[in-house]
Amino acid sequence: MKASDTGKKVRIRSRRNAPMDCKEFLHFIPNWLDGRLDGKRGVKFLEHMATCKDCNEELHIQYLVREGTARLENGDNFNLDRELSDKVAQYKKRLHRKHIENVIIYWMEAIAAIAIVFILVLVFVKM
Ligand SMILES: [Zn+2]
Repeated sequence: MKASDTGKKVRIRSRRNAPMDCKEFLHFIPNWLDGRLDGKRGVKFLEHMATCKDCNEELHIQYLVREGTARLENGDNFNLDRELSDKVAQYKKRLHRKHIENVIIYWMEAIAAIAIVFILVLVFVKM
């Protein structure tokens, strides 16, 4: 079990830039449900979710099984379909926020680099 897991991870890492396929999507559903999927992989997960009906259904089933079992034990009322939609929406917002943060950091670094070059040029011109 452990050895095959490792093999799977290597294979998945090696094609990081390709769009996510069904096999990868299914592999990452538990991570996503736990909120442990970020960055490019999270974006690809959402892209696949939006385009693949079968995987979407599988995600629903896994979510229903996981959350439904927990709720039944608590005897709560629930509308899991809506909750999953909310979860997806929140996740999209979170990814978008992170993306914006990364863009801001990128530009701040770029501006800092340009400022350093500018200062160096000034120093050399004065010498
Ligand atoms: Zn799929």
